[in-house]
Amino acid sequence: MLYDSIDMLRKRHLLINKPEIIRILKIQDEIVSQIRVFLKKEGFVEILAPIIGPVTDPGIRDAKQVSINYYGTEFKVMSSMILYKQMMINVFPKVFALSPNVRLEPTETIKTRRHLTEFRQIDLEVVNATYKDLIDLGERMLCYVIRKIKQKHGKELREERRQLEVPRRPFKRYEYREVLEILKNFGVNVEYGSEIPWDGEELLSKIHREPFWIMEFPVTARGFYYLEHEEKPGILRDFDLLYPEGFGEAISGGEREYRYERVVNRMVKSGENVADYGWYLEMLKNGILPSAGFGIGVERLTRFICGLENIWDAVPFPKVAGIYSP
Ligand code: ASP
Ligand code: MG
Repeated sequence: MLYDSIDMLRKRHLLINKPEIIRILKIQDEIVSQIRVFLKKEGFVEILAPIIGPVTDPGIRDAKQVSINYYGTEFKVMSSMILYKQMMINVFPKVFALSPNVRLEPTETIKTRRHLTEFRQIDLEVVNATYKDLIDLGERMLCYVIRKIKQKHGKELREERRQLEVPRRPFKRYEYREVLEILKNFGVNVEYGSEIPWDGEELLSKIHREPFWIMEFPVTARGFYYLEHEEKPGILRDFDLLYPEGFGEAISGGEREYRYERVVNRMVKSGENVADYGWYLEMLKNGILPSAGFGIGVERLTRFICGLENIWDAVPFPKVAGIYSP
C-alpha cells in the first residue's frame, strides 16, 4: 500500500514514477489491449465514446451527475454512455467503446476503496442478445483477460504478491431475491426493491472465492432502460458481476427496453423528465432493434487483477470523492 493517509492521496501525482505504480500501469495497458483483442475476435466494432450530451445515465445510485453550460443550455458529462451505445445497435450488431465517465460519489465512498469519481469502462452492446448471452460473454471475456495477464505478466503479479487463478466457468448465478436471503443470514437486512448497499455487496464478495453473478434486480432498483421480464412483472432481465475476496462490483448490464411507449412509461415512473430525452425518444420512435449489453470498469478490473487494496492505485491520476487532486 502506498498510502498511510488520505493526505498522501492529495500528493499522489508526485508518486507517479514509483516502481509499484509503473508495474500496475503496465498490467493495465495489457488488460485494455487484451480486452480489445478479445472483442475484435468476437466481431465487435469499436466506436468513440461521447463525453457530453443533453442527458446521461440516471441509474447511478447515490452519485450526482455533472452539468456544464453548453452555449446557454445545460449539458451533462457522461455518467455512462448507455443511451448512445443502444442507439448504435442499428448501425453495427456488436459495438464497444472505452468510455470515460464522471459520477460525483458521496464522500463516504472513500471508505469503500473501490469508488472513483472519474473512471473508465468498456461499455458494449449486442443486437438481439439476451441477458444470459451477455453473462456468457462476460465470463469468457474475464477468463480470457486473466489468462493472458497471467501468461504475460506472471513476474509482475508475483512482485505484487497476487495469487490469481483463472475462474471456473460457469460462474455461480444468484437471483437478487436469493442474495437478500444470504444477507439476512449475516444480519444485513435489505428491503426488497432497493439496491444492495455497498457494505452488503462487500460482504457477499468476501464470502466468495470466485466471481459470481446477481441477476434479475427489481425494477425499482435500476435505470429505466432495462427490460422487464414478461412472465415476472417487476423483475428485470439484468445482472451485476461481483469479484470475490471483497473486491466488489465488476459489471452491470442487461437487456434493454426498446419500445417507445414502454420507455416513456418507465421514464415517467422513475421520475425522469421525458422532455430531456428528445433525441433518444426520436430514435426509439423510428425503431431500434432489441439488444443487451454491459459495462466493465477498467480501474476495478485492474484493482482485482493486481489485488490492490485501493482503487486509486489503479489509475495514473485518481479522482476520489472529496479529494482535490490533479
Ligand atoms: N454501462 C451501464 C452502467 O454504467 C451498464 C449497462 O450497460 O447496462 O451502469
Ligand atoms: Mg452498477
